Amino acid sequence: MPIDDGLIGGIHVERLARVEAAASVPHDAEAFQASTIDALLRGELTGNLTIGELLQHGDLGLGTLNLLDGELIVVDGEALVARIDGSVERVPADARTPFAVVCPFTAEHEGDLRDASDFGALTAAVDALAPPAAACLAVRIDARIAHARLRSVPMQTQPNPTLADAVAAQVEFDLGETDVTIVGFRFPRDVAGLEVPGWHLHLVTADRTTGGHLLNVSVIAGHIAIERETELTIEVPAGVDVGTAGADAARDAAIADMERGR
Ligand SMILES: [Zn+2]
Repeated sequence: MPIDDGLIGGIHVERLARVEAAASVPHDAEAFQASTIDALLRGELTGNLTIGELLQHGDLGLGTLNLLDGELIVVDGEALVARIDGSVERVPADARTPFAVVCPFTAEHEGDLRDASDFGALTAAVDALAPPAAACLAVRIDARIAHARLRSVPMQTQPNPTLADAVAAQVEFDLGETDVTIVGFRFPRDVAGLEVPGWHLHLVTADRTTGGHLLNVSVIAGHIAIERETELTIEVPAGVDVGTAGADAARDAAIADMERGR
């Protein structure tokens, strides 16, 4: 289906032109997104939205920076980026993003977590906390982990980097026992062209020194807080074709390469 304002997968999706986005006021249960995953998959790796502007729309979220220069982690209103070696630094307000999603996070449902041995067990525990009808969730998990497998990407230096270049350059690394914060979103399959369907989580250590895109994790104990998102506002940069939402096998494979690791 063509993407237009309306209900997609149980979420009210609203597109904003660039000029409107800066003026829109965030409210609870509204997630805000810069561009679309389809645009990123097509190699549109530079966006116009600054991190300063992004933070006006939320205090928790994830994404990347222009030219895929690391994994973006937004937590407690602070924008951090995990570099290729897993080291984390603050992102300057004038850095720009080609793809990111944030929300003003308020814990709506909370629960304790114990002995989640892998990514599937962790996300199942979060799913179990959610209201049955919830389509889109934002989550924050503060936990002691035994181990995590993370991923980051180096800045693309080719004039016209392709997704294949970016995928080939990804680096995976392991984190041992430590305290962490995990943030991210669950989006339904119907928004596949706009967002990463399913769970997409980024991790940063409690001391905010190490982080990345979360591929797998073993949690000893922790605390889960979730918020149901009912609105998704997407800022579409000039020149970006919004494309179509819904099931697409080729896109699923590309997202699996880029976001899940193989
Ligand atoms: Zn990611």
